[in-house]
Amino acid sequence: MDSLRQLFDAVHTQLFEGIVQPLLYAAGGMRYVEDAYTATEWFLLGALQVVLLYAVLRPLEALYPAERWSDRRGVGVDVIYTLLHRLGAFALLMFFVMTPLVDRVTQALRGIGYTPFELDALWPGVTDVPLVSFALYLVALDFADYWLHRAQHRFRWWWALHALHHSQQKMSFWTDSRNHLLDSFIVDGAKAVVALAIGVGPAQFVGLVIATRVLQSLQHANVAWTLGLLRRLLVSPVFHRRHHAIGIGHEGRRYGCNFAVLFPLWDQLFGTADYRSTIEPTGVRDQLAPPAGGGRDYGRGFWAQQWLGLKRLLNASA
Ligand SMILES: [Zn+2]
Ligand SMILES: [Zn+2]
Repeated sequence: MDSLRQLFDAVHTQLFEGIVQPLLYAAGGMRYVEDAYTATEWFLLGALQVVLLYAVLRPLEALYPAERWSDRRGVGVDVIYTLLHRLGAFALLMFFVMTPLVDRVTQALRGIGYTPFELDALWPGVTDVPLVSFALYLVALDFADYWLHRAQHRFRWWWALHALHHSQQKMSFWTDSRNHLLDSFIVDGAKAVVALAIGVGPAQFVGLVIATRVLQSLQHANVAWTLGLLRRLLVSPVFHRRHHAIGIGHEGRRYGCNFAVLFPLWDQLFGTADYRSTIEPTGVRDQLAPPAGGGRDYGRGFWAQQWLGLKRLLNASA
């Protein structure tokens, strides 16, 4: 573990000193040097994550597929989303737009006399046991994720954006990051605010986000796994596939089922769990050709998908 860490640090320093710093210098941006150092680390962690995900999940998809496809057309665009989201381009955007916003929220909270919640106040000494506080924060943030996801389905304007995530009819481990940029921006921003409010430290936040993302990739994988005995503890690929099933995952009284991101406990508690394990086609009903649906086009390429998402949003708000 230690030698891996050393290797990582060496690559990080090399990359930063060899490429990032000279570029920053040339662009006259040396006042961002510390942020750039952190951003380089994020980029490397993201790259490592993508390589590992590919190495583990791609063989699993080949060995235990939930669905067999005649070709892989339409899967590639999700790779673009994953690289954009995990390699830090999106994090950079978040950083420049979100940091000032979050600062303002923190100031406003302080202004009305709110101090961030402290886990130690509830359970003295708990933050001295990093693993326990990590687990508690993981559960708390996952609870927030569940309700954010319910809202993505509940509000027409939000569904107009989130439907892009559901429009993949060949769902694979790349699909997790397939989201409208505006949708990602709102969800990630809201999560950052919740993390701030409950007193999660920056370093811990990074760990929490990475742990969550790795599991989210597994859930989207085209793998017929229910996780057996663990299925009521962790969201499995089959459980999340049901969330993407046409006519099941985004319809009905509660606007769908299986909204949980990590722990299906929330779905059990709030009556939205569906543990049936039959594999149904994934997608959005209005994508289907008439008369089953309206034959709506969600776009093939990245820009088409983003543009059509904005158009849906405008129509939903009109
Ligand atoms: Zn959804
Ligand atoms: Zn999903």
